[in-house]
Amino acid sequence: MYDVQSIRNDFPILGSTVNNHPLVYFDNAATTQKPQAVIDAIVEAYSRTNSNIHRGIHTLSQISTTQYEQARKTVQTFINAPSDKEIIFTKGVTESLNLVAQTFGEAFLHEGDEVIVSAMEHHSNLVPWQIVCARHKATLRFIPFNKAGVLDVEAYKNLFTEKTKFVSVVHISNTLGTVNPIQTLIDIAHSHNVPIMIDGAQSIQHCPIDVQKLDCDFFAFSGHKVYAPTGIGVLWGKEKWLEKLPPYQGGGDMIETVTLEKTTYNTLPFKFEAGTTNYVGAHALGVALRYIMNLGIENIQRHESELMTYATQKLQEIPQVTIIGNAPEKAGAISFEVAGAHPADLGMILDKQGIAIRTGTHCTEPIMQFYGVPGTARMSFGLYNTIEEIDYAARIIARVATMFE
Ligand code: PMP
Repeated sequence: MYDVQSIRNDFPILGSTVNNHPLVYFDNAATTQKPQAVIDAIVEAYSRTNSNIHRGIHTLSQISTTQYEQARKTVQTFINAPSDKEIIFTKGVTESLNLVAQTFGEAFLHEGDEVIVSAMEHHSNLVPWQIVCARHKATLRFIPFNKAGVLDVEAYKNLFTEKTKFVSVVHISNTLGTVNPIQTLIDIAHSHNVPIMIDGAQSIQHCPIDVQKLDCDFFAFSGHKVYAPTGIGVLWGKEKWLEKLPPYQGGGDMIETVTLEKTTYNTLPFKFEAGTTNYVGAHALGVALRYIMNLGIENIQRHESELMTYATQKLQEIPQVTIIGNAPEKAGAISFEVAGAHPADLGMILDKQGIAIRTGTHCTEPIMQFYGVPGTARMSFGLYNTIEEIDYAARIIARVATMFE
């Protein structure tokens, strides 16, 4: 039994008002709110146990280190990774994607090589590859998508040549809500012996992830989109790949021995964790993931799928509304336009009623160019949203739509 009202009580911010209205938070694709357990973990860590990890023999350092390494094991369990050595803490999915683009590029990309991404990537899985491909004189190729927001798998198959070295693709689009057929994309990449990375920024919080079942080579996500704090994220990679990649940054903790002339590097995962990491954030991420495991990701998925279906139906009932992205399988987010209204105006009016949606390009300008729109309004859902909130927002959107007619 999924008791959304009692779950809401775990999130203090959901009890607040914005512009004299109860907060309706529909901007979960940008960032999620934090349960009390996560907030408490941060306060507790800085109040009682704070100390830098790995290098101390004193008690507090050992407690912090244990919490950090336990969080790594929690991430391992959450995504069913074969080993905690394969879990690298980063500051977020953007850093995870840049880490792989830069180190893979340095080790394996040469003039004339090719990398495949989709045309619906967030800028953070596009720009790093543009930079790296320019640096190594490689070519970036794009999986197209159709008006419904569905990737063209046949076109993807045809993009592979003997020069293809890497594929990186988003699991769920933060703008269109499309759930991409990543299992098919992974299997096709592997049939060409090409490694593939999945940007899981919008899937980790919405559906079960099993990296062994998927058999992808890298999977990346941000903590703050999965009810954990900002400034912490994860890169999971197969050990065989992480061993082959050169270090990303140099500094403390990533070394084995250092002389003035030469350094040997630490083993995994530390080779990729230079300097003092966000160890409190990692601990709080572990708490957030345990919170989700307690609720059950399948239960969250079922609840959010009901919200998606209901919100889609309510928006479709408003004649002035056009939904952008109508893939048969969607999760998390709905982009839409209201005839005659600039998305920013719509966003401002909803804000006056306590409703937080996001408007703009959602860091996916090529998607806006494809649909020929300046931006969209986007509603995105989390585990605590309700049918009543959707009813309230739909009523206001319908009223605003007639104003702009
Ligand atoms: N990829 C996708 C699909 C996203 O939705 C986002 C965040 N909107 C990112 C990458 C970047 O995430 P972050 O800013 O947390 O690094």
